[in-house]
Amino acid sequence: MPVTLSQLSRREFLKRAALAGSVAAFAPASYAGLFGKSRDRHTFAFFSDPHVAADAALKNSGVNMADHLAACVRELAAWPVKPAAVIVNGDLTFKFGLPEDYATFGKLISSVRALAPLHLTLGNHDERGNFWKAFPRDATKLKSVPQKQAAIFSSARANWFLLDSLELTDITPGELGVAQLDWLNTELAARPDQPAIIVAHHNLSNLVGIPGLKDSAALEELFARHRQVKAFVFGHTHHWHVETHASGVQLINLPPTGYVFEQGRPSGWVRCTLTRDGAEFELRSLDGKHPEHAQVKKVSWRADEA
Ligand SMILES: [Zn+2]
Repeated sequence: MPVTLSQLSRREFLKRAALAGSVAAFAPASYAGLFGKSRDRHTFAFFSDPHVAADAALKNSGVNMADHLAACVRELAAWPVKPAAVIVNGDLTFKFGLPEDYATFGKLISSVRALAPLHLTLGNHDERGNFWKAFPRDATKLKSVPQKQAAIFSSARANWFLLDSLELTDITPGELGVAQLDWLNTELAARPDQPAIIVAHHNLSNLVGIPGLKDSAALEELFARHRQVKAFVFGHTHHWHVETHASGVQLINLPPTGYVFEQGRPSGWVRCTLTRDGAEFELRSLDGKHPEHAQVKKVSWRADEA
């Protein structure tokens, strides 16, 4: 079950780029910007809802999704430091998770692999079987949750829990499922001392008007049980927004790199930098004139004791 694609060496990256042929969005001359930068081990880059179709020229709601993703990748490549990791939080493909969609997505995202490890989660516009086939050489096997793609990685200031909320392809709501929630409960119990950040594609069901997690209540129960859970990061609503859950957990709703549902909302990516007792989330809007572009939301983690 692939979720993590390791960072590639300069040599391996250039070899693969040559084999794949030049990616229109990313001319070989600009590969240079990917190398020779230092890494900020507390900084992470979030992309969500790229909705890339096989046909890189396809537009939806007036947006060319492939161009948008390529622009986000270029911005990240030009960022002065390398992030500790890059996370793309679901809805990688336009609607159905077709093999050809993943092929185009894979080309567009490939440059990121010269920068940092790349973590991919699945949304309701993904198809697990096709996704696994699309990245076979990079597969990280994790059998803890059969038929789901869940993983944990650690960073200097937090443990990250990447969940799989895809229930049925092209059906809006999502579900974590009992097995994955049990797994999460066990893994959180084993890591009580470090802040935990949970990442999944779908929103909590009662948060906004868009159907989210069907088993939201069970996840929120884990927020209450495990006080080290400090933030829940999700996409799905295509609506950049940060708020605090009743439990004190920070809810970080990522913007889409692709199209927005509501006119005037930003699309782009988010820089996250962990601090000693919280985090900064900065919107990097593709429209540099958007009023929320470069705004930094500083959040503090809730206390370890209720
Ligand atoms: Zn989406």
